[in-house]
Amino acid sequence: MVQALVLEKKGELSLRDIDLPLEVGPDDVKISIHTVGVCGSDVHYYTHGAIGSFVVREPMVLGHEAAGVVTAVGAHVKNLKVGDRVCMEPGVPNMNSRATKLGIYNVDPDVRFWATPPIHGVLTPEVVHPAAFTYKLPANVSFAEGAMVEPFAVGLQAATRARITPGDVAVVIGCGPIGIMTALAALAGGCSRVYISDLSAPKLAIAGQYPGIHPVNITERPLAEVITDETEGWGADVVFEASGSPRAYEGLFDIVRPGGTLVLIGMPVETTKFDVAAAIIKEARIETVFRYANNFDRAVNLIASGKVDLKPLISETFDFARSIEAFDRAAKGLPTDVKLQIVMPG
Ligand SMILES: [Zn+2]
Repeated sequence: MVQALVLEKKGELSLRDIDLPLEVGPDDVKISIHTVGVCGSDVHYYTHGAIGSFVVREPMVLGHEAAGVVTAVGAHVKNLKVGDRVCMEPGVPNMNSRATKLGIYNVDPDVRFWATPPIHGVLTPEVVHPAAFTYKLPANVSFAEGAMVEPFAVGLQAATRARITPGDVAVVIGCGPIGIMTALAALAGGCSRVYISDLSAPKLAIAGQYPGIHPVNITERPLAEVITDETEGWGADVVFEASGSPRAYEGLFDIVRPGGTLVLIGMPVETTKFDVAAAIIKEARIETVFRYANNFDRAVNLIASGKVDLKPLISETFDFARSIEAFDRAAKGLPTDVKLQIVMPG
């Protein structure tokens, strides 16, 4: 039995002992968990008991944004050794699947993803994980930053799917953690400037700390008006939708330039309408983003290079013993909180 933060059912968390498998297979590593970020999806399972067709039917350990130290390695593992500081990619595909063979393992229907029912997450002292999905952290990348690699990889997936050309002007709709990660990834990917929109002034103030990110408060001025002004009526080269709000789709193509790109990241809860004719008239390219593939190593490299600093986005750190408090705080969705993290004991 090991200690873990367990979601018993919708609305009920407990810190208790649970049986988790810890055998190390030949291609696996065992990791002593150091830091785990609290993600919107973890909080959504806590508050709603489900995300789409994924329903919490049995007690499940939460947490999927993690960094730690390797404590054991399987017989076939060559890329890691005991004592390495690492972060982990939480989705493990079937290595023999067609999706995996195509390099799009994130959309493998058989992917097993931490803290997505029925797979347990990592808010527990130790986990076993395939070495192929475990990434070494350079000495200058902290555990806290290592636990930020997972959400940043979503931003990098969006920037990759956008096929940014150096100097592009981008818009990110939605200033939550993923919106900010996307804006930073768009800048790292070559955008000259990024406008980020939201209704929340405190969220926009956090994003606006970064050079190159220009906050747009849509309670003061419509986004389309700002982008029209700022681009002499041409529109943005790339628009990233990171709010998941159906309202964001109203007039969305007014801010995309002719021949520009729309990247959909935020997942609306309900079926959402958009103006197909407006998209066609501009011959807009539409891309979608589901998690990430082949972006963890790039995320680690960008953080290590100093080009991307995610430290200002860590709002508060809780001890493992205060995990439930951390989740209750995250469930409040304070506009001044970007990322809450939990640190395991010694
Ligand atoms: Zn996450």
